[in-house]
Amino acid sequence: MTYKIQCKCNRVQLSLHNEPIVHAYCHCNDCRDLLDIPYHSVAVWSEENVSIDKGQDSITIYQHPSLKMQKHFCSQCGDVLFNTNIMDWRVVSQLLIARCYNNKLPPELVSDRHVFYEQRIINIADDLPKYLRGSKGALFE
Ligand SMILES: [Zn+2]
Ligand SMILES: [Zn+2]
Repeated sequence: MTYKIQCKCNRVQLSLHNEPIVHAYCHCNDCRDLLDIPYHSVAVWSEENVSIDKGQDSITIYQHPSLKMQKHFCSQCGDVLFNTNIMDWRVVSQLLIARCYNNKLPPELVSDRHVFYEQRIINIADDLPKYLRGSKGALFE
């Protein structure tokens, strides 16, 4: 499977290859600090499974001053293509993917869990498993 995504102005186009590592709602403090969001719905690929098909020179990288995290965005339209985490994984917003698929997220990418739920700033009432930290380990009861 390959997913094709592009920024709003279409200058940057990426391919996301194979299965994502995880597709989840992330409540971690680091994402919140990097992106100024309460939490977000993401699909995550390893670095080698993401290729830039077009517009490499339009990508600007913001390096967080203290965390090993980056935000990669289009310098023309400002659209965030992905952020990176400490594993160098490419964390892609499901909103961006959905927008590139006629506002319908491919069903296999829909979040199936919450991660870093112990760092949440908002409680979620749904039936998905809520992992206190990463997607392996203890669950919120
Ligand atoms: Zn753009
Ligand atoms: Zn996070």
